[in-house]
Amino acid sequence: MKVAVFSIGPLQTNCFVASQDEGAVVVDPGGDPAPVLRHLKANGLGLTHILVTHFHFDHVYGCRALAAATSAPILGPQDDAFLLENELGMGGFMGTPRVEPFDWQPLAPGRTEFLGQPCDVLPTPGHTPGSLTFHFPDAAVAFVGDLIFRQSIGRTDFPGGSLEDLLASVRERIFTLPGETALHSGHGPATTVHEERLHNPFFTQFMSRNDL
Ligand SMILES: [Zn+2]
Repeated sequence: MKVAVFSIGPLQTNCFVASQDEGAVVVDPGGDPAPVLRHLKANGLGLTHILVTHFHFDHVYGCRALAAATSAPILGPQDDAFLLENELGMGGFMGTPRVEPFDWQPLAPGRTEFLGQPCDVLPTPGHTPGSLTFHFPDAAVAFVGDLIFRQSIGRTDFPGGSLEDLLASVRERIFTLPGETALHSGHGPATTVHEERLHNPFFTQFMSRNDL
């Protein structure tokens, strides 16, 4: 599997193109998808699905345009549907552009298949209630949205956020993956499970102190 990253949209959200042979999926199109479409065309890739880790506005700006250009279905978290009814999902506050409404289908947690290989859709609530992680075990790659960043974690002060849930999601669903698994976050650089187990201050401190 190849992974290409494009930081797009007003918050420079990481949009990923994961590809295998001639197929591709896009994770979190958070802005104008023009560079993504150019990448697909230049590499002869057909987009099969648009996957969304969570329904915050900066992860979905490009959904409508990308779906219109490719006919790929948008799959996202059912438990974040409520966010699309307010400005956290649809933007339009503090100078942020509004998100163009888009059609989507719920993606249930569990084992499924994309790009001809298994994909475990992991429920990883905390940043939002519905936040999903897309783990491709054969490729040792996981797309974690805003759950965990290199040496940091996602915000939990938005409606529906929960620090307790976030810490449990990381401990139970991310730190239990093989150490070499690449973690691709919604913002900033990629990291690995091993690196974060060792160096993420939110876990090294909490876990050594009282195993929260
Ligand atoms: Zn977010």
